[in-house]
Amino acid sequence: MIKPGGSIRDVVEEIEEMVHMTGAGLAFPLNISLNEDAAHDTASLDDGRVFAQGDVVKLDLGVHIDGYIADTATTVDLGDNGLLLEASQSALESAIRLVKPGVMVRDLGEAIQKEIETRGFRPVMNLTGHGLDRYTIHTPPTIPNFLAPGGGKLEPGMVFAIEPFATTGSGRVTDKARVEIFSQVGIKPVRLAPARKLLDLVRERRGLPFARRWVQVEKQDFALATLVSQGIVRAYPVLADIPGSLVSQHEHTLIVTEDGVIVTTA
Ligand code: MN
Ligand code: MN
Repeated sequence: MIKPGGSIRDVVEEIEEMVHMTGAGLAFPLNISLNEDAAHDTASLDDGRVFAQGDVVKLDLGVHIDGYIADTATTVDLGDNGLLLEASQSALESAIRLVKPGVMVRDLGEAIQKEIETRGFRPVMNLTGHGLDRYTIHTPPTIPNFLAPGGGKLEPGMVFAIEPFATTGSGRVTDKARVEIFSQVGIKPVRLAPARKLLDLVRERRGLPFARRWVQVEKQDFALATLVSQGIVRAYPVLADIPGSLVSQHEHTLIVTEDGVIVTTA
């Protein structure tokens, strides 16, 4: 479905529906982030955007059963960016090949950085792989996309995602004004009726992220802004490298075993 002229909203709705048909839940809204946008975009309610020739399209999918999460991403190239995609793909494969008990986390970062830089790109330094826990998407260990000092040792039973991003830009992402994804991070009494209604709708998420398009209440913008300002809801703005740059991403979720690794999303 990701081809020039195809609708972003159609892809998001179809894939989210496919997940629900299996009986699993979405760990977060399907992320589709274009070109310099690295992460955290998804379709808005009346999203009219279509894919264009030349787009670099990141598709990031998180699924859970009873809170146990699989997080995976791939990139679709509608242009001529094969080497950029190869960089993040090879970085992911190279890091996964290293995973077993006793390996240092920084060795994974070093492998990722090398695969990306030898192809002439930069890793995104301020996005990382991350541990996964029940109903929690970001726990230790952090898996840097470059050789970072510190970091611990891999141990049997660890569950984490590795997600290299390769970029033609600066190697750092910053917040854009666009925000489509949120999560509940606190519990407090709320007076505003639409905000209370919104919290009722997201209660079953148990803190997992939700999309603006999933919570259709009156005065939605005001309700969300109120909840964010009170520290009850957190906003996840779209994260982008510099305008005109291109970012690719590949991601898998892994379990470290006694003698190696299980890739749960392969
Ligand atoms: Mn992901
Ligand atoms: Mn992830």
